[in-house]
Amino acid sequence: MKIHEYQGKQLLTRYGVDVPRGRLVYTAAEAVQAARALGGARWVVKAQIHAGGRGKGGGVRVVDSVDAVEDAAHHMLGHRLGTAQTGAAGQMVRRLWVEEAVGIAHEYYLAVVTDRATQKLALIGSGHGGMEIEEVAAREPDAIVRVSVDPLAGLSDADAARLALGMGVPAALQSQAATLFRALLACYLETDATLLEINPLVQTVDGRLVALDAKFDFDANALYRQDDISALRDLDEEDPLEVVARQHDLAYIHLDGNIGCLVNGAGLAMATMDTIELFGGHPANFLDVGGGATAAKVTEAFRIMLANPRVEAILVNIFGGIMRCDTIAEGVIAACRAVDLQLPLVVRMKGTNEDLGKQMLADSGLPIIPAESLAEAAERVVAAVRRAGSPA
Ligand code: ADP
Ligand code: MG
Repeated sequence: MKIHEYQGKQLLTRYGVDVPRGRLVYTAAEAVQAARALGGARWVVKAQIHAGGRGKGGGVRVVDSVDAVEDAAHHMLGHRLGTAQTGAAGQMVRRLWVEEAVGIAHEYYLAVVTDRATQKLALIGSGHGGMEIEEVAAREPDAIVRVSVDPLAGLSDADAARLALGMGVPAALQSQAATLFRALLACYLETDATLLEINPLVQTVDGRLVALDAKFDFDANALYRQDDISALRDLDEEDPLEVVARQHDLAYIHLDGNIGCLVNGAGLAMATMDTIELFGGHPANFLDVGGGATAAKVTEAFRIMLANPRVEAILVNIFGGIMRCDTIAEGVIAACRAVDLQLPLVVRMKGTNEDLGKQMLADSGLPIIPAESLAEAAERVVAAVRRAGSPA
């Protein structure tokens, strides 16, 4: 789960990280008030969307008059902002963060991630801040320093110094840098973050290290024990179908293809998507209805898949273990009737009460295409999409 930059900055201040003073606003008039209240002569107006690259897209404006603050706010609020990370349609700007402009002497990059290979945390730093780290990695890989941190032992003084040195932090600021590294690690661990990226971290002209940007991603499976973080969720920034799915306890992820998939079990769902690709098709979604899928839940799953206008055919792949195939067949039949399904539907079911389930589907009078194996199911659904006229 992602949060906005201003929320990330508010979180960081709790750990003693220095960030510019700022205010959250929803209108241009509030932006003007915020600039006046902050004082000073230069401000930065920043669109709050869950995507980076805002600067290049016109979503971060450094201005030096209150009129220019108002003008920037007018241009951003209520408009879609497209960046390299938003996709072509862009993201609607509903809130702005107005903050004091900081005198920048140098921009650094700093991030914390989990390194699954070593089962440790990794601090990644670079003296080339302000640009995408992928770009730095491609052009000048030696400019990126990486330090492994045992989450139980913490960051050693030697590693902190090595990172600061590698980033090119001047000697006078190295102990400030070590304190900052430890603050970020503590924040990352205590909030169950999966990414904490400060780009840029700046050295100010008056010799401080200040986080000018803050990007967080949190482990959605840990939110149950992170009430403070859950409260920061902004549903406007999330895929509406994924939001509805979560309300029905369905694991749904929107994808780019045109074949809707309804599967029980995450592993089987992954295998189903792979098999569709193998036969030249493209899944429109990942959807795991879970072990205890009721007819109502299957119906909801159909509604969610069908709300995606790109879906041209559906593949249901069920393994009947604890869940019996006849129960699933009942759910599929009820769902087809409830949503008045007009698209080709391929159903493959295996396991407990398989024969009964298949018989129920055959007797339903619905134009369901049965399949025995997963390969056959994938082949049939891809063929159905091709018949419907568009490339699978
Ligand atoms: P994004 O990563 O989405 O482009 P950032 O918050 O990193 O947005 O801002 C882009 C650039 O704008 C920064 O690299 C920095 O140069 C400048 N900037 C951002 N905030 C401030 C600030 N408070 N004072 C001065 N410059 C800033
Ligand atoms: Mg940034």
